[in-house]
Amino acid sequence: MSNKGNLFVISGPSGAGKGTVVKEILKRDEKVMLSVSATTRSPREGEVDGREYYFISKEKFEDLIKSNGLLEYAGYCDNFYGTPKQAVEDNLEKGIDVILEIDIQGGESIRKVAPHAVSIFIAPPSMEELRKRLVSRGTEAENVIEKRLKKAELEMQESSKYDYLVVNNNVEQCAENVLCIIKSERFRVNK
Ligand code: 5GP
Repeated sequence: MSNKGNLFVISGPSGAGKGTVVKEILKRDEKVMLSVSATTRSPREGEVDGREYYFISKEKFEDLIKSNGLLEYAGYCDNFYGTPKQAVEDNLEKGIDVILEIDIQGGESIRKVAPHAVSIFIAPPSMEELRKRLVSRGTEAENVIEKRLKKAELEMQESSKYDYLVVNNNVEQCAENVLCIIKSERFRVNK
């Protein structure tokens, strides 16, 4: 039996509440960590470099790609996002489960480089609810919200490629459901 950690991909449209759900999971299970991505987008108010993301320039991002330092990366609404490889590998080696909270393209790349990864799609209850959440979050300008909503419609069509789909009606319940999946995977025989 392997003592290594499991790799989880969590995707879903912007505003589906992935971030909040993942935070709740981290609070409830100490054997899970979240991979901190690198991005070229600017920090939102309250976001801290090295905590939510590594906020880096486009040049530095390109250097990371060239040096093979990213497990995957993708362009999303005019910015780049990528998963630093080393930290993920180190944690898996230590037996810690790692969550990648990444977009659909990233999920697709991970399926190729790490086919054993377990993928979970977090869906909003409806597109109307998604719009409400994006507007009330107030972190994006109106034109960015429109862009993210258009992308969300396309993203919803990709949910069938994921191993699991969990609807986020309520953060606590959704986190509990995702945790059930994470815990079940720890008992899997054939990895
Ligand atoms: P946000 O700007 O709202 O923080 O993130 C935008 C999108 O980028 C979200 O769907 C988020 O899951 C995704 N994302 C964050 N980090 C990564 C990453 O490292 N790789 C990929 N492919 N997508 C990411």
